[in-house]
Amino acid sequence: MQFNSLGLSQALLKAISKKGYTTPSPIQQKAIPHILQGKDVLASAQTGTGKTAGFTLPLLHILSENPKEKYRPIRALILTPTRELAAQVYANVREYSEFLELRSAVIFGGVNQNPQVATIRQGVDILVATPGRLLDLINQNHISLKRVEILVLDEADRMLDMGFLRDIERVIKMMPAKRQNLMFSATFSPDIKKLAHGILSNPVQVEATPENTTVDAITQKVYRVAKGLKTDLIIKLISDGNWKQVLVFTRTKHGANKLCEKMAKAGIKAAAIHGNKSQGARTKALGGFKNGSVSVLVATDIAARGLDIPLLPHVINFELPNISEDYVHRIGRTGRAGASGEALSLVSADETVYLRDIEKLVGIKIPVEIVEGFEPDPNASTQPEKRQQRGGGGGNRSRNNERSANSNTKKNDSSRRPKRNNDRRRNDRSN
Ligand code: AMP
Repeated sequence: MQFNSLGLSQALLKAISKKGYTTPSPIQQKAIPHILQGKDVLASAQTGTGKTAGFTLPLLHILSENPKEKYRPIRALILTPTRELAAQVYANVREYSEFLELRSAVIFGGVNQNPQVATIRQGVDILVATPGRLLDLINQNHISLKRVEILVLDEADRMLDMGFLRDIERVIKMMPAKRQNLMFSATFSPDIKKLAHGILSNPVQVEATPENTTVDAITQKVYRVAKGLKTDLIIKLISDGNWKQVLVFTRTKHGANKLCEKMAKAGIKAAAIHGNKSQGARTKALGGFKNGSVSVLVATDIAARGLDIPLLPHVINFELPNISEDYVHRIGRTGRAGASGEALSLVSADETVYLRDIEKLVGIKIPVEIVEGFEPDPNASTQPEKRQQRGGGGGNRSRNNERSANSNTKKNDSSRRPKRNNDRRRNDRSN
């Protein structure tokens, strides 16, 4: 199938060709025709599948077909969970709309709102936003959603996970009831299905990859190792392999910083990216990683969400996530666009339960390797660490902290706190 058989306008085909895309990805082939017909769509697609173009291209087509008004109300709203994803989606919107007369803007927290407000005042057709900053600007009467025709919820599962449910509900109340709704999510948890049921009307359901399965092109491997030897092992793997583009996941922000310091001492160019870093520091780290001056990016789950790093050869889980679905998100950073990739996990005895849950979710037994001199500790307990067991789990707590650091707004508003009864936290409860 070619892009020109999807029914997109010449201006969009020109932009697509400028990007160098030759064929639409599976999610684009499946979603675009339905969206062009004005239907609500519920799509299961991970980052890396081309999902952004999957909703942006038809959205731009629809908006550009209708005549623009002199006073430009916001006609399409794209909600994303993180700043990074918002910035990336916006960059895509800009590229794909290069040959159209549509205006777009992006807003997110953690930076001065004034330039964002100034842009919106001039009139924008498409707004990309994170929920916190959007509500702030609505409350200050800088934004009206009364004319929204198309709503996109991108990475909806992550938005729920970050506690944005109430925010989403508030935003929806401010829009006309009659509108087209598109919801993209990497996983279809019961919570997501419930949210979809409340928002979408008669949706067409499309899937890029089977639910909760990992991409075939990714080679997965587990290194069983003593907890205290993980840092030395990761340094050895990266140095021996002479790997130049590695994304490493840690469970906590503190862990990310510590690992970065140790890598730097070992002569590896590493940078951390997490919610405690300023937007400038995060952009710099990501820029360094993309241009090759940084070889290893150490990230927490939330910070890594939405990072667009094409053709990433190596992803390493320094610690396994205690939410199994995060494993799928993490390793989805490699093996993109048909390229092969390697996802490695350093697993100590106390992570055995997490490994078992992950294997159950992805439906395979991940091959195990032990490196000489880095053997697991035969006497170590297989019980998860204490700090992860208390009151709903350390993973939740670190996620909450990160989210409030990310949103930078109204931290005491109880409605913004993540819901605790999310089924995705079952690992915490079971320990
Ligand atoms: P996404 O899943 O939207 O984050 O997209 C992942 C990457 O795939 C981005 O770098 C896009 O620019 C790229 N991409 C999107 N659609 C296509 C396509 N049809 N052909 C090749 N690359 C694409």
